[in-house]
Amino acid sequence: MSPYIQLVSRACPLSPDYVPSDLTEPDIPFRASPGDPKRLLRAQAACAAEELFRRAHRMQIDLYGISGYRSYDRQAEICRETQSAYVAPPGCSEHQTGLALDVSCPDLNFELEESFASTKEGKFLENYGPMYGFIIRYPKGKEKITGYAWEPWHIRYVTKTLALYLSLINLTLDEYHQL
Ligand SMILES: [Zn+2]
Repeated sequence: MSPYIQLVSRACPLSPDYVPSDLTEPDIPFRASPGDPKRLLRAQAACAAEELFRRAHRMQIDLYGISGYRSYDRQAEICRETQSAYVAPPGCSEHQTGLALDVSCPDLNFELEESFASTKEGKFLENYGPMYGFIIRYPKGKEKITGYAWEPWHIRYVTKTLALYLSLINLTLDEYHQL
C-alpha cells in the first residue's frame, strides 16, 4: 500500500523506531525556529504544501505552518506533559508519518483552536486543501469515527486523487480503510 494513504490511529500505531526517510523542509512560513523538526515533512507532502501555500499567498490568505513532523519520543513527552485524552499516545500520532501539518494564521495569534474554521484561512484550507492532496483529517461530526475532537487546523497529505475523492463524498480516512 502507498505510504501516503496509510492509516495511523490508536488502532494502527507506527513502530517506535519509524522515521520517514525523506524528511525535508518545505519553503513555507513557519512559526517554529529554523532547525526545529516541526518544520519537516516528507518530500512529496512538502512539495504539495509549497503549492498549497503559494496558492493561498496569491489569494491573500495568510497561512503559517505550526507543526509538521514529530518523533515518537517527542509525542511520548507531550503525553507525559498534558495527560489529555485527546492527545495521541506515542506511535499513534499522524505527525510521526511526516504527512500531517498543523496550520494557523496571524488573526488567530497562531493558536490551534476550533475558531480557525471560520477564518478565511480555515475556509481556504478546507476548500483548496484537497486539490493539493490534503484533507482535514478530523472533521466536525466525525469524532466518533476518527476518535479525535474536531481539528480544523490539522491537514494530512493523502495524494491528490484520494483527497479529492474523500472530500467529495465526505469520507474520513478511517472510513476509507473500512470500505
Ligand atoms: Zn495535528
